[in-house]
Amino acid sequence: MITTYEPLHHKYRPTSFDELVGQDPIKSTLKQALISDRISPAYIFSGPRGTGKTSSARIFAKSLNCLKSEKSTTVPCGQCELCKGISSGNALDVIEIDAASNTGVENIRELIERSRFAPAKARWKVYVIDECHMLSTAAFNALLKTLEEPPRQVVFILATTDPQRVLPTILSRCMRFDFRRIALHDLESHLISIAKKEEIQINEEAISLIAKHSQGGLRDAESLLDQVSLLPPPITQLNIINLIGAIPEEELIKLAKSLIIKDPNSILNVCNSLINKGKEPIAILQGIASILRDLVVTKVTTNPTNLCNISPENSESLNDLATSSNLDQILNLQAKLKGSESNIRNSNQPKLWLEIHLLGMLSDEDSKENNRIKQSLLKSKLSDNSESENVNNTSESIVPNPEKEPIQKTAFRDETKTSPDLSLDDIWKKVIAMLDLPSTKMLLSQQAKLINLTSDSAEIAISEKWINMIQSRKNLIEDAFYKARGSSTKVLLIQQKDNLSSHKEVKNNLQKIEQRNQIKIDREPNKNTFKEEKKESKNNLEINSIDQKAKKFADFFNGEIVNLE
Ligand SMILES: [Zn+2]
Repeated sequence: MITTYEPLHHKYRPTSFDELVGQDPIKSTLKQALISDRISPAYIFSGPRGTGKTSSARIFAKSLNCLKSEKSTTVPCGQCELCKGISSGNALDVIEIDAASNTGVENIRELIERSRFAPAKARWKVYVIDECHMLSTAAFNALLKTLEEPPRQVVFILATTDPQRVLPTILSRCMRFDFRRIALHDLESHLISIAKKEEIQINEEAISLIAKHSQGGLRDAESLLDQVSLLPPPITQLNIINLIGAIPEEELIKLAKSLIIKDPNSILNVCNSLINKGKEPIAILQGIASILRDLVVTKVTTNPTNLCNISPENSESLNDLATSSNLDQILNLQAKLKGSESNIRNSNQPKLWLEIHLLGMLSDEDSKENNRIKQSLLKSKLSDNSESENVNNTSESIVPNPEKEPIQKTAFRDETKTSPDLSLDDIWKKVIAMLDLPSTKMLLSQQAKLINLTSDSAEIAISEKWINMIQSRKNLIEDAFYKARGSSTKVLLIQQKDNLSSHKEVKNNLQKIEQRNQIKIDREPNKNTFKEEKKESKNNLEINSIDQKAKKFADFFNGEIVNLE
């Protein structure tokens, strides 16, 4: 007799709440609802894929309807006609809809039509709408109408991986359960129990790697175990690494070390050998990011073992690398990784870009954000462990690094980087260039001037007519200073009597553009501008009439509407 193979995630699909892995608060709440017979007409189960949403919906449907019990039960038998029907998806009164493939309003209308009739066989009619965020707005509205006056003995269970996209009016009518990613420990013990039952010879490190790789998704973990079970036993961590294309930790540590000691040859060699073994450039990059993160954790916490991603057998070499490098270097490398992922992902030559990014990380230029992160990390470590060794730690280094500077000096150099060769005007231009909105750029370049600059503050003179307008954008200016200088700068706005440039000129421009856009300023504001003004006043901006004109001018600058906020 030929038996068909049943995938593990089917075979071990939970049949009762007790079998559901993780999600303890949800289990107990739903059980309590069943025991006390307080069934809500609508539930929403949200959470990442493979965390038990659909399984819970089915268990709940069985619990409501199991024929072995007179009323709702927390332990459905799994054997009666209804339990079996629900498991196989053939029960007449338990309707599962995949909204990802049925987004039309027609299906939902049909569904609503049917929900008015009493259940045919079961005590409760249950509608499970999977990926409910994919429903069209019209479909949502149709569903909303039903939920406003729910038919008796009907339960809607809406499952979604993206609750943000579900209409708030729907959400507010549902009892909401957020399914969490399943804890590593729970995943591991579940996989171990399956391996035992299925007689899969697999070691614990390999199980642990499967659990980590599936990031809290039970179904993914079970599928991967299913896949590796086809390999000749015993299954080791290396099998898993090869199967999922992960980068061996030893190689990543080697790569991180090469970055720290600035050895381009070694970087290229390791990269080449990994890529020749079929590893993806993006996986190499993510691996390095993870190792650098672990290095920072090792540096700044007193008990890093629980917080690091690295496996216990490699934690010693990670520790060695951590002691032989300093926090400055690691943070600097980490900061230089920013943006590299999308670059590599979007390129036709990912290997080339990986090498460019890794070699670029060898440059000595200090990253802008480095100092800020460093200070806050040091602070947290100091409060974590008040021994004085911490600060010294950052300068103690076995690796020779002639460019190394004490923290304060680095910060100082960074802050003054813009100033020695540049005039105030030049710096001001640089800051303005960092602004995103053309309207703000135009206003500041014509109506404001940098008159004084220290390491942490900037004085800006502004013609008096524009002070309110520019005041409302102070945080944008401070952001621009931060981008231009790499450190925070407090902005002081100083009102100046004389106009910095001709106010008339601006007004003329304003009129020209108004004519172009056929807007008459002195007339009652139309609906749209009224709406905009309302939005503004909500933000507590004091807008005088000149500001309004400027705003309109700015809005229609270059003939395009610019979002001011
Ligand atoms: Zn049953």
